[in-house]
Amino acid sequence: MKRILSGMRPTGKLHLGHYTGALENWIALQHDFENYHLVADWHVLTTSLNTSSVYEDTIDMVIDWLAAGLDPIKSPMFRQSRVKEHTELHLILSMLITVNRLERNPTVKDQIRDLNIENITYGHLGYPVLQAADILLYKGDFVPVGEDQVPHIEIARELARRFNQTFGPVFPEPEPKLTQFSRLVGLDGNAKMSKSLGNALLLSDDPETVKLKLRKAVTDPQKMRKGDPGRPEICLVFSYHRKYNQDECQEISADCKSGKLGCVDCKLRCASRISEFLDPIIERRKHYEANKDEVISILCHGEECARKVAQKTMDEVHNLIGMG
Ligand code: SF4
Repeated sequence: MKRILSGMRPTGKLHLGHYTGALENWIALQHDFENYHLVADWHVLTTSLNTSSVYEDTIDMVIDWLAAGLDPIKSPMFRQSRVKEHTELHLILSMLITVNRLERNPTVKDQIRDLNIENITYGHLGYPVLQAADILLYKGDFVPVGEDQVPHIEIARELARRFNQTFGPVFPEPEPKLTQFSRLVGLDGNAKMSKSLGNALLLSDDPETVKLKLRKAVTDPQKMRKGDPGRPEICLVFSYHRKYNQDECQEISADCKSGKLGCVDCKLRCASRISEFLDPIIERRKHYEANKDEVISILCHGEECARKVAQKTMDEVHNLIGMG
């Protein structure tokens, strides 16, 4: 069975953007592939030295993974920092890539611009190498990613080739598996849904919170009141209808355009469909919140499984580089 490696930084409670951009895909893939799901906690350090919430954020994120439907039996879930081989392989791979190559990485260039970073650290510049170690350690065949992460998979492929040519064949070249649904737009119309931007709908939001948040969502600015003709094609609330209320999309589109439907009612309908979708997730979340020991033992079990695979790979690596 082909193997998939996927991971997320521990960001705490997840939002719908995480779900449509990654989690939904992971859940669908878990039936057809051998999956390894990584909590990328070392990666937090690449952009912030404040690690005070990493533990709680890890638990919150893993609860959302479980609540959303990832099966821990099918898919080991583990913390990167608990499997020491990640840092070891990262060190070895970092000798096989130049600083110039890493500086040409468009994703890091974008981050430098977006986060206004004046002096990038060695660790941040090299985080695609750590990511490559995360993937290659498990000999991942595929990595589910969004378009913006494709350059990182290219770096992992280059590193696999470089290692294989220099020392001997160990690593398959991983391929990106592009997610099917594009990013969900934030409630403020920002292209990215993000907790730090305050424009996110969390997987754990109860119906009242979803309603309140959607009430503030931006819509077509030309539709001031019920009766005005609207343009659903540019309205973000309609993009949520497309995702969570497909059956009513045609009717909503027609009624928006004719003015029959007002934005207040349209948002209420959208909120109720989203809450219907979130209901079972919230129910399962309650179980894990009340049983955090179960979450820890799922992680510990996942770490044992991951360690076995990682140690086997590193035995091959040690032998090939003459340090067996
Ligand atoms: S009626 Fe709905 S789709 Fe039309 S502009 Fe208002 S919120 Fe958007």
